[in-house]
Amino acid sequence: MILDAEFGYELLVCRFAELAWRPDGDPRPAIVSRQLGTRERRWDTVVIEVDPAAFAARRRFGERALDSDLLHVVRGAPAEWAWYRDALPDPGYPWRYVRQAVHRAADRDLIETRRRGNRIELRRHRPYPDWVDRIVAIENKPDLDRSAADALADQLAHDVEAGLADEVWLATETTGERVEPALLRSMPVEAGILTTRFGPAGRTGVDGDSEGTTEDPVVDRDAATVDWLPSELAPTGSAGRDAETVTRRLEIAERAYGKGWRSYHETMRPDCRHFALRRAGRGLVPYCGAKDRCPTDRECAGSCPSFSPEPPAWRTKGWPIEGGPGKGMQRLLDRRRERAWDRIAPSAGDGRTE
Ligand code: SF4
Repeated sequence: MILDAEFGYELLVCRFAELAWRPDGDPRPAIVSRQLGTRERRWDTVVIEVDPAAFAARRRFGERALDSDLLHVVRGAPAEWAWYRDALPDPGYPWRYVRQAVHRAADRDLIETRRRGNRIELRRHRPYPDWVDRIVAIENKPDLDRSAADALADQLAHDVEAGLADEVWLATETTGERVEPALLRSMPVEAGILTTRFGPAGRTGVDGDSEGTTEDPVVDRDAATVDWLPSELAPTGSAGRDAETVTRRLEIAERAYGKGWRSYHETMRPDCRHFALRRAGRGLVPYCGAKDRCPTDRECAGSCPSFSPEPPAWRTKGWPIEGGPGKGMQRLLDRRRERAWDRIAPSAGDGRTE
């Protein structure tokens, strides 16, 4: 199967990170997401290293992400009943927006509220945990050439300067040779280099014999090696990060938590008769039977000229409760995400709020 150069590669890097973080042999529990960042800069792959006990506590707040307004409420909610304006830090914008967020938080059972006269009081069910250890940004560039290297050098230099991430990496696919040293030298020295071997060209034994028998990509724990270790970008000294940066990092981590990296099924068309999931070693990637390749998330949409809804007959088993193959694939991807989380910290069970 031919992988789309950028999109399919990105999925394989995400799966590799989920299987084998960190690739330098210092395993750390982590969740993985993709296409996240700030207004100025979007990262291809985002790895959130977590504290397992605190991650278990985060799971008790449910599977959906908390946006910035909800975070403001949940982080500030007191243990004892208090008027929300006394309890929460000044938001820097009108309090009526905070009141709306308080109601949203109560609707999701993240906090408790009650009315005292005209006043809305709140208290927490449980403290919001400090679950994010480190944030790692990975830029994916399967075909690293001179112009891509120049553009990447600028982007990575920006990442290094912004200091939002604790580490930045470049992931690039080997062509059988080592990555061109001159290209790597043009990267900021703080960025790590991860060389992947997902394609058949990279799967060669020590004697040079190809181990790949097909054109299919493969991802497993050994599918990448570290060519250069990144520098730690977290500020040193007692001051640490300012409060605004801490909050922005938490917002990114929350979006990563809510989105994961398999959420492509929400924007692609698994309900198309041509859509399938194909095994790529220890990963699954989308496959389009009409195009005979991995479609991009942009082209796999209702506007695709080859889109064809799965026939109703495919849905007859349990339809409309169970749905057809498309719904089945969505459930499968959701279960995989849950399993990855369970490996870090078991499901919160009855203590879950959603
Ligand atoms: S035909 Fe178009 S909509 Fe259907 S799976 Fe392929 S790319 Fe997606």
